[in-house]
Amino acid sequence: AAKNDGRGRYRFYSSDLHDKAEDRRQLEDDLRDALDRGEISLMYQPVVDAGNNLIAGFEALMRWDHPEKGPISPAIFIPIAEDANIISRLGEWALRQACDDASKWAGNARVAVNVSPIQFANTELAAMVASALSNSGLAPERLELEITESVFLGENADTDNVFATLKKVGVRLALDDFGTGYSSLGYLKTAPFDKIKIDQSFVRGATESGNRNAAIITAIVSLAQALDMETTAEGIETLDTLDLIRKLNVSHVQGYVYSRPLSNHEISERLARGDLHIMPTGHDVHRYD
Ligand code: C2E
Ligand code: MG
Ligand code: MG
Ligand code: MG
Repeated sequence: AAKNDGRGRYRFYSSDLHDKAEDRRQLEDDLRDALDRGEISLMYQPVVDAGNNLIAGFEALMRWDHPEKGPISPAIFIPIAEDANIISRLGEWALRQACDDASKWAGNARVAVNVSPIQFANTELAAMVASALSNSGLAPERLELEITESVFLGENADTDNVFATLKKVGVRLALDDFGTGYSSLGYLKTAPFDKIKIDQSFVRGATESGNRNAAIITAIVSLAQALDMETTAEGIETLDTLDLIRKLNVSHVQGYVYSRPLSNHEISERLARGDLHIMPTGHDVHRYD
């Protein structure tokens, strides 16, 4: 709504800003109760071994089904949760839920859980992870925590300590969205990552001739191999890109070309059948769920 600024002019711009801030505050309020109202859930996207099309694990991805607005993307609500001090509670819930779910799966598929840098600032994180593992009975080596480079921003002196404690607990660590943040290769010297996840932005358009992304992916893969880390290419949508990613020796693939995120029910049934083989298709890539 436009507002009269008192001098006879209407100030559309500031009132739009006001509406936006109001929307966000509303969303923040709604998010505070979302977990208790049962509106938050996890979906699981297969992570596939690029060499043999076998499922190696699943990434847990949070979903919010808003009662009026419908599904809201985590790209929108996670940053709000981080600003509003809700992320620790949501993150702990996701971790415990994912461990519970994975502990009931047939076989040894891994589960990867995204952890916000804000959770890393809490010295209790490693104890919470250990508790989630022992309550669920999930073997530590089946749990992978995904962290973005921004965890190294700022003078968070304890990051090294938290990593070391988590390695003692026995979980795996993955560096998420690699190459999009404030990349400094320095932290790779000491941080004990088991995997680098190559961000979608390098994958997109990687097949176009003259594109530099393929060269960058090659460099990331050789860096990871030298440091004894696995690689996952994120956001692979087409068979052409999958082809290229395989030629570049990326070890794992995650993307709509194999599967979009699935419910725990769907993957539990699949795993109960022992059906770990998954065929890439190029179809139906533009649905969101
Ligand atoms: P992310 O961790 O990098 O997760 C990968 C994102 O790529 C997911 O988006 C996934 O659905 C999407 N994706 C997978 N394959 C394809 C593909 O072939 N094409 C395209 N276009 N997208 C693909 P999603 O689920 O919307 O999540 C967005 C981001 O929200 C995640 O990025 C992660 O940073 C954050 N997030 C999600 N769940 C959690 C959570 O439980 N905790 C925290 N802290 N962050 C979360
Ligand atoms: Mg992730
Ligand atoms: Mg990612
Ligand atoms: Mg991402």
